[in-house]
Amino acid sequence: MNDYKKCPYCAEEILQAANKCKHCREYITTKEENNNNFSNLNNSKNEIKKNTKVQEKSNTINNFFIFIGVIAIIVFFYFTFISDQNFSSFSSISDANCTEVAKDSVGNKLKNLFGAEFAILQVKNNKEISRTTNKLVCLGDVMLDNGIDGQKLRTELTLKDGQFWYKWSIE
Ligand SMILES: [Zn+2]
Repeated sequence: MNDYKKCPYCAEEILQAANKCKHCREYITTKEENNNNFSNLNNSKNEIKKNTKVQEKSNTINNFFIFIGVIAIIVFFYFTFISDQNFSSFSSISDANCTEVAKDSVGNKLKNLFGAEFAILQVKNNKEISRTTNKLVCLGDVMLDNGIDGQKLRTELTLKDGQFWYKWSIE
């Protein structure tokens, strides 16, 4: 018989199952629904917290890779030496070979962007890596005056505007 309840807004009697009061037209939510809404809110709060943690973790990983990338770029430029003089040992790239390139390389002082200077004392086993009409790339064992032996020296001989340019890098 207790099929009626009091509307919490206007205190008129309405049906137990009513979702909307017929007197004041307010929407009626039960305690259960309120609790559900509350726990849903808490769940989504937890979800946000969880997602934030995952986001923080991936940010840390991203920062790590950016850090490694910056170090790699610094190391790359530290070991990249660009000659500021041109050479005229060859008349064309097809005329050049890595043995002659090694001879050209010896005695040159290599300066990197950080101001460090190394002299090439010797280049052994200089082998051709690639060749185009305007670029010859060689790789050989280098001895520098920094006392470290057995490093690989990559030499790029480039023909540009009728002049030959050398670029060395340590690998
Ligand atoms: Zn009402």
